[in-house]
Amino acid sequence: MRIFCVANQKGGVGKTTTTVNLAAGLAQVGQRVLVVDLDPQGNATMGSGVDKRQLTLSVYDVLLESASIAEARQSSPKGGYAVIGANRELAGAEVELVRLEHREKRLRRALEAVRSDYDFVLIDCPPSLSLLTLNGLCAAHGVVVPMQCEYFALEGLSDLVNTIKQVHANLNSDLQIIGLLRVMFDPRITLQQQVSEQLKAHFGDKVFNTVIPRNVRLAEAPSYGQPGVTFDPASKGALAFVEFAKEMVQRLG
Ligand code: ADP
Ligand code: MG
Repeated sequence: MRIFCVANQKGGVGKTTTTVNLAAGLAQVGQRVLVVDLDPQGNATMGSGVDKRQLTLSVYDVLLESASIAEARQSSPKGGYAVIGANRELAGAEVELVRLEHREKRLRRALEAVRSDYDFVLIDCPPSLSLLTLNGLCAAHGVVVPMQCEYFALEGLSDLVNTIKQVHANLNSDLQIIGLLRVMFDPRITLQQQVSEQLKAHFGDKVFNTVIPRNVRLAEAPSYGQPGVTFDPASKGALAFVEFAKEMVQRLG
């Protein structure tokens, strides 16, 4: 079982879209996948077709050890993978966790119990470097960083890279950046091409080969409670995410 965080401390950069579509893509190529929603906004939950307003058990209960993953998981009806849901209740976990022991290792411990059930676990992180994100980073083998090829993209990255280095040094020596994923890419925009080249020059093979195009079908899919990969399998966005799933499987050999 390989565990990955999809993280970037900026909001609206495509973390959730990457999480649910990579999950559906991996499922499509035969992998057993669990998505963990660590964002109180619950977008990965809703986008997987699980109603965040009707969760009896969620990642909140898992973090506070009042439920196991086996008890809290549900299946994404269309996505072909399992989900641990989140909703606003999770925002309170931050405060409650602070006074508990091993507060940053709660998710890691919970996942140990389902080690033989999945090939991939994908953790959708909130747009912050909070205790929730720290739980994700402590549990993971690697981080996938979705980013838009815009002017300030590189600048924002240094905080995340520093946090990953610190977690690697102090809490989880397995952790590494698996790669940067260029998302919402529009090749007609010269600036995006330039930033994309800069990324490759700077990060080399840490930049995934697959590029996710800007594609409206990916943005429409969540309101139908499913990932773009299953909502419109022939769309450019869906095809790119299936390609990305294959690249991930290949890279991890
Ligand atoms: P985050 O989880 O980082 O906040 P989201 O995945 O929710 O980001 O994406 C932010 C917005 O951009 C959403 O409305 C989403 O539907 C849209 N979006 C994400 N990726 C794409 C894409 N490749 N093409 C078009 N729209 C996208
Ligand atoms: Mg999100």
